[in-house]
Order: sequence, then C-alpha cells, then structure tokens
Amino acid sequence: MADMIPAARPIIGDDERAAVDRVLRSGMIAGGPEVAAFEEEFSAIVAGRHSVAVNSGTSALHMAFVAAGIGAGDEVIVPSFTFAATANSVALAGATPVFADIEADYFCLDPAAVEAAITPRTRAIMPVHLYGHPAAMHRFAEIAAKHDLMIFEDAAQAHAAALDGTPVGAFGTAASFSFYPTKNMTSGEGGMVTTGDADIARRVKLLRNQGMERRYENEVIGFNTRMTDIHAAIGRVQLAKLAGWTKQRQDNAAFLDANISGVITPPVAPGATHVYHQYTIRIVGHDRDAFAEALAAEGVGSGVYYPIPNHRLPSLISFSPRPGDGRQCGTEGCCAAGSCEIMPVTEQVARECLSLPVHPSLSQDDLERIAAAVTKVASAGA
Ligand SMILES: *Cc1c(COP(=O)(O)O)cnc(C)c1O
Repeated sequence: MADMIPAARPIIGDDERAAVDRVLRSGMIAGGPEVAAFEEEFSAIVAGRHSVAVNSGTSALHMAFVAAGIGAGDEVIVPSFTFAATANSVALAGATPVFADIEADYFCLDPAAVEAAITPRTRAIMPVHLYGHPAAMHRFAEIAAKHDLMIFEDAAQAHAAALDGTPVGAFGTAASFSFYPTKNMTSGEGGMVTTGDADIARRVKLLRNQGMERRYENEVIGFNTRMTDIHAAIGRVQLAKLAGWTKQRQDNAAFLDANISGVITPPVAPGATHVYHQYTIRIVGHDRDAFAEALAAEGVGSGVYYPIPNHRLPSLISFSPRPGDGRQCGTEGCCAAGSCEIMPVTEQVARECLSLPVHPSLSQDDLERIAAAVTKVASAGA
C-alpha cells in the first residue's frame, strides 16, 4: 500500500532553522527585536491593527478578555463546536461561557442562536472562524451594536481569512491567533492578540509581562505569557510564506470540491475568503467513523474536529445550557440520544464532520488519491 497521506503536516525548512540559529547566536533569547518585528509584520495582515505576541493562542484569548475587563459575573457567548480553548479562555478570565448553536453550512456561530442567548449579563460575543472560514461578522456587528456588546474573534485557525475584503482579526474589539504547529502558520508555539484599541494593546503588553512596562515598576497583577525571540523568528519566516501556502490550500480545496462526490463538500459564504485550515466534509448515509477507517485503508488520513461538543465535555458541562424544563443539556440522555433541543446543529455536525488533508505539501497525486478514495468509500454500500 502507498504511504498514508497525513491529515496535517507542519512545514519547517532551512529558513526557519537559520532564523533560530541567528537568534541563538545573538544571545538575546527572551522577547526582544524579533518579537517587535513579528508584531509589526503581523499587523499588515490585520489591516494595520495593533498586534501583541504571546506564548500561545489560548493565552492570546485569555489576555484579551482580561485586558478588556471581562471577568466574574460576565457572560460571553461562544460556539460549542470548536476546540475547548475557546470556552476555556472565557472561564480562565473568570467569566461564564454561554454556548450557542452553529449554522450547518459554514460550521460557525449562528447569529439567530446568539441573539436568543443574550441575557442582561452578556458582555461579549466570541465567534470562531472555524476551519479558516470567516464567521458572519456583519451580523454579529449589528447584534453587538444593538445590545451594546463587545466582539472577540477566535481567529486561531484563520490567518488571512477575510469577509468582503476585511481580514479576520480586524472586526472585533480584539482577536486572537494561534501559531501551534498544525495551524496555517507556526512559531513552534505562540499566539497574537490583535486590536484596534491602543489601550487594550498596552494592557495585553503589561499582562504578558507581570504587569511591567518599566522594569520592576509593576503596574497591575500580570502573567508570564511572553513570546521568545526564538519563536518570533520562526513566526516571521512563516508569515512571509503564508500567502503562498494559503493559495495552495485554496487550490487544493478547489480540486477536492470539483472531484469529490457522495459527501457534502464545504460551501463558502458570499464575500468570504476561506483559508482552509481544514477541508471539512459532512458524511451522510454512512457512519462517519467507519468512513474514516475505510479512508485510512485507502491510505488517506483524516481527522474529526471535534467529536464531542464543548458543552458535553467533563471540563465544561457545568456551563451547558438548560432548556425550559430545567434539565441540563448534555445530561440525562438529552444530547446523547441525538435529539438535543438547544444544540441540534452542533450535535448533528459533530456526528457528520470529517476533515480531509488540504495542507500545502500535498502533491497532485495525493489530491487525486484523496478525491478517488472519498468518492469510492461514499459510493460503497450507500
Ligand atoms: C488552536 C486553537 C486555539 C488555541 O491555540 P493554542 O495556540 O493551541 O493555545 C484556540 N481556538 C481554536 C479554535 C483553536 O483551533
């Protein structure tokens, strides 16, 4: 059998190695000139907003909330169909994540579900640009204006995605990006807060460094969530390659769109620029996990992001919604029975979703094998 085509593959080359070597030889390893340069260069892909680098995407989300004054007693509306870091960051800031359902086509927060989840304690909406597809930001801007809410974008998977020409990371009060190795670009580990608010940018800079701007004159209680110059140097090299890799992901997705049949391929909303962190299909008429196993037997790797909605995770179930009768969603057979009243789309998509390889290192032969394998498995026994 031919080699397995992996679901994701970080690309690290000689340029990244040389950048790390340059920093190690300089002797300046903690945050310094590379971090400052990375921040300045990153601002170019978020329409010139302020960028502040931190040590992970999770820290970026967390610091943004603390910097904006979100905390105990505040509610932030989040999707349940995302990585747990989304809701974790709300809870880490001391606030309450309130889960809302998604729309099936684009896998992102459903504006109508968000509006229904608003209470007098709601302070913010946190859309996730899941898989690299921008969330419905124009609708969220209207809802936020109407109810006097802030918007925090979880752009961890969506570097350089856009909606009607505005890049993600330039819509909300603040946004957060991740540079984890499997994301569209990496710094090893790392994250970036972007904001149009100079005050929030300054507070994130304080928070990441024990509350210090001037040495040993700590102004607020802070964290150590700094990015090192080693990581920033890798991130700068990758940022310069991002546009080319994004184009490759989009070309790969276009090939898969045109050559796969028997499953639901991912549509793109009008005006949206999708950057295909994942190429996620929906499997109907087959058991999704059996489908993934059959693909693996054909040499095609795949991934399920995410099999368990956040509101049913042991860590987050205490935040799970309660329908009118007081039962907690996700317990007593509510969602497990596949008949969830509050999160019907989230539950359905969690059963159906399957992400295929779309990364820039796929060859034409790989793409043909992926499309042929998916079409073959979809037509078998259907
Ligand atoms: C990766 C990811 C994060 C967290 O980023 P880390 O850098 O791993 O901390 C947050 N939200 C989403 C949607 C992610 O995919």
